[in-house]
Amino acid sequence: MRTRIRVEGIVQGVGFRPFVCGLAAEHGVAGFVGNDEAGVFIEAEGPLSTVDTFVGDLRRRAPVLAVIERLRTSRRRPTGQSGFRIVASAGGGARRALVSPDMATCADCLAELWNPADRRYRYPFINCTNCGPRYTIVTDVPYDRAVTTMRDFPMCAACAHEYADPTDRRFHAEPVCCPACGPSLRFVSAAGASLGGDPLDTAAAWLRDGQVIAVKGLGGYHLAALASHEPAVAALRLRKHREEKPFAVMVADLAAARALAHCDDMALSTMEDPRRPVVLVPRRSDAAVALSVAPRNGQLGLMLPYTPLHHVLAAAVAGPFVLTSGNVSDEPIAYDDRDALDRLSRIADGFLLHDRRIHVRADDSVVRTYPGGLVPLRRSRGASPAPVELPSPAPRPVLACGAELKNTFCLAKGRHAFLSPHIGDLKNAETLRSYACGIAHFSRLFDVVPAVVAHDLHPDYLSTTYARELEGVAAVGVQHHHAHIAACLADNGYAGPVVGVAFDGLGYGTDGTIWGGELLIADLLDFRRVDHLTPVPMPGGPAAVREPWRMAAAYLDHACGDDIHGLAVVRRQAARWADVVRLSRTGLASPLTSSAGRLFDAVAAIVGLRDAVTYEGQAAVELEQLAAAGCRDAYPVPAGAGLRGATRPLVWAMVDDVRRGAPPDVVAVRFHNGLADATVAAARDAASQEGLSVVALSGGVFQNVVLLQRVLSGLAAAGLRVLVHRQVPPNDGGLCLGQAAVAAARDRAGLVP
Ligand code: ZN
Ligand code: ZN
Ligand code: FE
Repeated sequence: MRTRIRVEGIVQGVGFRPFVCGLAAEHGVAGFVGNDEAGVFIEAEGPLSTVDTFVGDLRRRAPVLAVIERLRTSRRRPTGQSGFRIVASAGGGARRALVSPDMATCADCLAELWNPADRRYRYPFINCTNCGPRYTIVTDVPYDRAVTTMRDFPMCAACAHEYADPTDRRFHAEPVCCPACGPSLRFVSAAGASLGGDPLDTAAAWLRDGQVIAVKGLGGYHLAALASHEPAVAALRLRKHREEKPFAVMVADLAAARALAHCDDMALSTMEDPRRPVVLVPRRSDAAVALSVAPRNGQLGLMLPYTPLHHVLAAAVAGPFVLTSGNVSDEPIAYDDRDALDRLSRIADGFLLHDRRIHVRADDSVVRTYPGGLVPLRRSRGASPAPVELPSPAPRPVLACGAELKNTFCLAKGRHAFLSPHIGDLKNAETLRSYACGIAHFSRLFDVVPAVVAHDLHPDYLSTTYARELEGVAAVGVQHHHAHIAACLADNGYAGPVVGVAFDGLGYGTDGTIWGGELLIADLLDFRRVDHLTPVPMPGGPAAVREPWRMAAAYLDHACGDDIHGLAVVRRQAARWADVVRLSRTGLASPLTSSAGRLFDAVAAIVGLRDAVTYEGQAAVELEQLAAAGCRDAYPVPAGAGLRGATRPLVWAMVDDVRRGAPPDVVAVRFHNGLADATVAAARDAASQEGLSVVALSGGVFQNVVLLQRVLSGLAAAGLRVLVHRQVPPNDGGLCLGQAAVAAARDRAGLVP
């Protein structure tokens, strides 16, 4: 018999065709295999039972990086063909093939990398069908060397042989190369002088010597400095204009990770995942890491090498090194050579460069773990552009524009939601350009022409403006916290309805105030706001985000009125306190907010942690770490009060505790526990009132695992099913998925013109 087989999913650039050839040889099946825009097509001829086993094995034994979403077969008339071959890629139809994310160097390639007898010994661009660059070098589909930036490097005879040999691990590995034919490294000083010698050894020596080095990586340039070298890391901070936000650190292996931080099994296995995210772990007190790596922070962001270049560099440096995005403060990561040399020359003392072009940028992904779970903080390199599945298909293609902070966008087609890598805070022309280019590239790569565009309700977000200026599309405004809950639903493949708890920094509400401590009854179509934290003024608007003591003033005024004696924060800010309280009472430049994030800010200032922040979420991060020591005590909240009735008693109990001299770490724990208990009670009450049994938790505040764990166990004890984020972040980096899911649901219901 002869069968035609169509395979769809992530089946290009992951060694699928060679795998099929190997399988055909093993089973003695004749025919051919090829790539086209939709995926892989195969024709297989042989005895009936053999062909059946062959088709079964396609699924059962697929390559590690392959994701088979659909496999269809149809009968063909046998041709009597013998042998099995790969046929040329076919172009022209609708593009449905999925581009694989970039994947960390595999064990086989690593063995060759460290084998002095191998022709790719220490070669920083070694790869095979199971690993290496993909998304960041692809310029078009179908995936083929000619549409990657590797087309600049014609293969030598030895590489061409491996590429053509069906029994070889590099059979049709598009980025295959070696020292004779592939990309090469160069070391250049900041002044532009090329230095002789081995570039990797030079870079390692400069790092050990305390210099800041720019390293061209996979999805962009990084800045590196020896992690144990305080002056080097401090210099990097100063030159990059990054005051206190922690830097990620690359360690050579898991043993090196354990020497710096307390890593449980979940953290270690996440570090080893082929997507290789940065993993946040509690720093050991004896860790040999400069203070400037993560000032006033008990956690370290660790990652293992994920490209051969990183492996060789880590071995040569022989010590952990900071590896942070190559940019100045809030700009997008540099990936273009000329741009990088220009922008980073004032930061880096030297450049470790190579001549393989990066076609699109992809920042590192970040996750944190807790016992039994994991919270994605940034879904980027290694994860994007693998699609997230929507709970039900989008009838028309959707572009979801995201919000402002930690922006990502998403293109949805059918069941697939393709989320972009991390773009950054959409606040300046540079990130907006990166955003617009990213959307254009994604549209081309996934052949999506959006008919529906989803956006935040905030009128001043650049993403909203971008959406509203698009022509010939139907615009769908999605409320910020509805989008958070919808993102959590889509993340879990659930359509709702649920009780949604959305706690975050700030999001535009339907009543024109700023929300962020919300209890919603929601499904993908719509939501009702059933409860929320008590709104208080944000004295000075944006100034209140930068200066948490202003939120302390607003909350204290709300809970205690003029009874503010004996509080250190009032004394510290004595010069401005009365003015700010007056400002907040007038309501001038003081928008109302129910934000949980701002409540954390207020508490951080009241316990004396900090009155001003240098990066978004800093006060909350530090308050959580203060609470991490843990205890079961909680500030009590009256039963049945809901979130609305919880704010004042919580603040009151805390003020009372502070006045009685309770230590800050005890206050921090009791506050966390009190808010968690109030949240559990409010969600439980809402669930029983509405007859619902599922609760979804979303919003950036749920990056806080002290809060998250207590809410999780409280809701579980109440017999409720709890949905948390697993694939996309609970913060605004996952928001576009929710927007897309809502727009798709409304379109399906005929609610989009
Ligand atoms: Zn490999
Ligand atoms: Zn070669
Ligand atoms: Fe948000």
